[in-house]
Formats: sequence, structure tokens, C-alpha cells
Amino acid sequence: MKERINDWGLTYNIDSSTVRKAPQKQEGERFTVKLCPSCHCVYENRHHQYKKTITTNRYKDFPTIGLKRENCLKCK
Ligand SMILES: [Zn+2]
Repeated sequence: MKERINDWGLTYNIDSSTVRKAPQKQEGERFTVKLCPSCHCVYENRHHQYKKTITTNRYKDFPTIGLKRENCLKCK
């Protein structure tokens, strides 16, 4: 199995150059901000229902308290 394509054939669209100030909840999208314990980055995976892609946003200076710890796609 290739790393970039999962069992459902979804492709990951990783945009690591995009750094936004703070995540905002948007209706119709699943919203999860996680902390990667390997590279200590705060990131969010957005699952787009229509395009069937997963976009990863990374955040600087985001409070890490209470965040779920899970390796990001780069550290998996
Ligand atoms: Zn990482």
C-alpha cells in the first residue's frame, strides 16, 4: 500500500506552506486540531466531502493544551 493513498482511494492534499492564524469552525466540515508529538506542530485535517480530499492546515502559536496527540502525516 502506498502511503499517500489509503484503502478508500482518497488522496492526501498536504499544503504545508499554508499557515493560518487560528482555525475556524465551518459548517459541513469535520474539524479536528491535533498536536504532533514528533515535530511538535499543531495541525488540522479537513475532510472535504465533495472533493474527497484531506487538506492539512498547520498553525503557529496555537495553544497545545488539551489537544489530541497524534503524529501528522509527515511523521507517520
Ligand atoms: Zn509531525
